[in-house]
Amino acid sequence: MPPRSCPAAGGMSRPIEVPEYEVQAKVRVEPARTALVVVDMQNDFVREGGGLLVPDAAATVPAIRSMLELARAHEMRVVYSQDTHREGDPEWRIWPEHARAGSWGWEIVRELAPGPDDVVLRKLRYDAFYGTALDHLLRFWGVDTLVICGTVANICVHYTAASAALRWYDVVIPRDAVSALDPFDLESSLRQTAFLFAGRITTAAALICGSR
Ligand code: ZN
Repeated sequence: MPPRSCPAAGGMSRPIEVPEYEVQAKVRVEPARTALVVVDMQNDFVREGGGLLVPDAAATVPAIRSMLELARAHEMRVVYSQDTHREGDPEWRIWPEHARAGSWGWEIVRELAPGPDDVVLRKLRYDAFYGTALDHLLRFWGVDTLVICGTVANICVHYTAASAALRWYDVVIPRDAVSALDPFDLESSLRQTAFLFAGRITTAAALICGSR
């Protein structure tokens, strides 16, 4: 990361750098106790013409696909979150209109279409646990580890990872399978997940299934 400037006391600018965090070369997960959570990979965020385009999101599709293949090959649970808003949603006062229920922009991108055994949870806010059945499902599946990918890294991925960690799930985030509007936001979010939640940061290719 190149140093970034930010306003400091007295109006001066000073460069800041994201502190180091570990990117693990190999992360082994036990498929029966793990869920792959694909956050908000919807046309509005990923596709040109989307209502809240994250320009780097499309580049994460191959990494997410490879993890979906890994998960399905090992019968790992797969959960998608689908950001879902309706007319008058207060989130549209913060962000441009996006993820309107039933619209093209709301749909999950074709390349990552959910399979018949996958669960799609319509979510209301940044946190995929808030107002959804996610925690309930993970508990009765016996899942204790979440591999979380998708967009936006420092918003819906981050708040979902935070909410998972607060419930004592182990969190794994493959850094090439998440995207943000600004690289600083992505890096600071990963650093926060590693530092504060003891989350494991890795890459999609470094994820291995097996009990040992
Ligand atoms: Zn939203």
